[in-house]
Amino acid sequence: MQIRIAGLVPESYVDGDGIRFAVFMQGCLRNCAGCHNPATHALDGGRLIDTDEIVSAIKKNPLLDGITLTGGEPLLQVEAANELARAAKSLGLNVWCYTGYTFEDLPLDAAPLIENVDVLIDGAFVESLRDLDLQFRGSRNQRVIDLNKTRVQNKIVLWSEIGG
Ligand code: SF4
Repeated sequence: MQIRIAGLVPESYVDGDGIRFAVFMQGCLRNCAGCHNPATHALDGGRLIDTDEIVSAIKKNPLLDGITLTGGEPLLQVEAANELARAAKSLGLNVWCYTGYTFEDLPLDAAPLIENVDVLIDGAFVESLRDLDLQFRGSRNQRVIDLNKTRVQNKIVLWSEIGG
């Protein structure tokens, strides 16, 4: 399946816990003031690549803890994002996903992807709430949600490094 990406970071230490393969997906309609990555906004920007090619690259690094779907807005290409998430899970990797949607407002068609996501960083970046001390998020409204615990407890549980 084709996916439009802004870029790939095959070994990232900043896009989630541990060593991660980060997929920067192209396209975002939010235009948040102060967005860290405006080059990812254009829906026809970036480049097209086959998800199989990305999965092959992921398989090449045995040190990876997981993959991170970021952008841009990964939920704009939800089927391709899910294909990568499914492949990562089948390789024993965890999946982190950034989205400008809040957990409560996720679109219905995102449900199959979200089932394969371990940690969701939700909410659009809000410049007035920007905080450089936050881990894995840019503004205080965003949450790093442990979706596995959230599913079990049926309430939002935030990810924490200890036991996270
Ligand atoms: S949701 Fe993310 S990528 Fe999109 S405009 Fe906001 S900060 Fe930028």
